[in-house]
Amino acid sequence: MTMDMDAAPAVKERACGSCTLCCYLPDIDELDKPANTFCRHCIAGTGCSAYEKRPATCRDFLCAWMSDALLDDAWEPSRCHMMVYRQGKQITVLVDPEHPEVWMREPYRDRLHAWAREARAEGGYVIVYAGDALSVIAGD
Ligand code: SF4
Ligand code: SF4
Repeated sequence: MTMDMDAAPAVKERACGSCTLCCYLPDIDELDKPANTFCRHCIAGTGCSAYEKRPATCRDFLCAWMSDALLDDAWEPSRCHMMVYRQGKQITVLVDPEHPEVWMREPYRDRLHAWAREARAEGGYVIVYAGDALSVIAGD
């Protein structure tokens, strides 16, 4: 798994604030960072201490909440404990292992299944990583 995705402009009024989930949840090859561990450059609640030198993967990344105005504030990563991003036909959901079942609750469950149905029409799916557990929502 990598963080590579199509870069998209941020929704104007949104900001990462104190969220650092994308410096914690994904594995990042360029930084030799495993999943569910903080990047060595991350200052909790503040952000990146290597901002000017951060790798392209970090520079190009925005989670879906930052880039898609259709995701309401229930999907703000620091609030929902999940980070969503799209890779072509695949929608990836990384769940904070301390909240491993949040994606099964509303309003998230319905939305994830709706995305899966939409993705399925184009041969895609939703994949959810929660700690060591992996779930695929196929939309059928
Ligand atoms: S997960 Fe989204 S909101 Fe949180 S720091 Fe990363 S890009 Fe910003
Ligand atoms: S290099 Fe910076 S932006 Fe990239 S994961 Fe580490 S702390 Fe986050």
